[in-house]
Amino acid sequence: MNIEQKARQTLAKIKLSKKDKILVALSGGKDSSVVAYLLKKFGYNIKGFHIDLGMGGYSERCLDSVKQLCKQLDIKLHLYDIKDEMGSSMCYIRAGIQHEKKGLKNCAICGVIKKWIMNREARNIQGISKIATGHNLDDEAQTFLMNVLKGSPKLSANSGAITQNTKDKKFIMRIKPLFYVAENDIREYSKKMKLPVVYEHCPCALDSYRIQIRQFMNTLTTKQKENIMKNFDRLSERIQRLKAIEKLNYCEVCGEPSRNKICRMCQLVSIKR
Ligand code: AMP
Ligand code: ZN
Repeated sequence: MNIEQKARQTLAKIKLSKKDKILVALSGGKDSSVVAYLLKKFGYNIKGFHIDLGMGGYSERCLDSVKQLCKQLDIKLHLYDIKDEMGSSMCYIRAGIQHEKKGLKNCAICGVIKKWIMNREARNIQGISKIATGHNLDDEAQTFLMNVLKGSPKLSANSGAITQNTKDKKFIMRIKPLFYVAENDIREYSKKMKLPVVYEHCPCALDSYRIQIRQFMNTLTTKQKENIMKNFDRLSERIQRLKAIEKLNYCEVCGEPSRNKICRMCQLVSIKR
C-alpha cells in the first residue's frame, strides 16, 4: 500500500467525516505538512494552526514553511506566538521549569505545553471538531516501546490514530492520519510533492533516552515497526474494552480538561489568566 492508501485506510478506520472541521497542527516539518496536503487532497475541511515557539532561526524557518504551505493549499492559518501570549520563548519557559523541577526532559515539557495550547486555541476557533497532528509510525512505535521498557504499556492506552476513551465538550479529539505510515515514506513523499518543509531537527530535542531508542528503531525494518504497532493495537483494544469512557475533570487552576485536579500544564507552570 502506498502512503495515500494507508492514510485513507486510517481515516476510514477512525470514521473521519467530511463534515468534520479539522485544525491541522503544523510544525513546519514534513509530517504535519504531508497531513495537511493529504487531507486537503482528499477533500476534507481543514485549517492550519502553528505555534511560533520563538526559538531563533529554527522557528523563523518553520514559520516561513507553514505560511508557504497554507498559501499553496489555500487554507486559513491561525498563528499563536508564544512570546506574545506567554511572555517568553519556549526555551526560557522550559529552562524556568527545569530550574524548579530537575530531570524533566525538553521534549516532555514542550509536548505538554503544545497540547495544552492546541486544545484551548482549537476550542476558540469556530466549529473545530478535530485536531490533526503529524505523528507517524516511527514516533508511535518509539513511544510505545519506551512505555513497554519503562514497564508501563498502559501509558499508551489512550493513544491511537484517534484519542480514545475521552469525551468532553472542552476536549477536542486528536487524530493522527499518518499513524501507520513510516517516517521514510513521509520524507520521500514530501520531497516528491515538493512541499515547503524544514527538514532539520528541533535544536532542543536532546533527550538522550529517546535518541537511543530512535537509533535502535533505525535498525528495524518497516515491517518490524508495523508489527510493534499491531501488538499495540491488540493491547489497546483489550484495555479499551475494560475501561469505561473516562470522565474528565476541569483543572482547578486553568479550567482546561484534565484527568487530575490540576492539569499537567499547570503542574509545570503557573499561568497568567
Ligand atoms: P513533535 O512533538 O515535535 O514530534 O510534534 C508532534 C506533532 O505536533 C507534529 O506532527 C505537529 O502536528 C504538532 N506540532 C509540533 N510542533 C508544532 C508547532 N510549533 N505548532 C503547531 N503544531 C506543532
Ligand atoms: Zn491547568
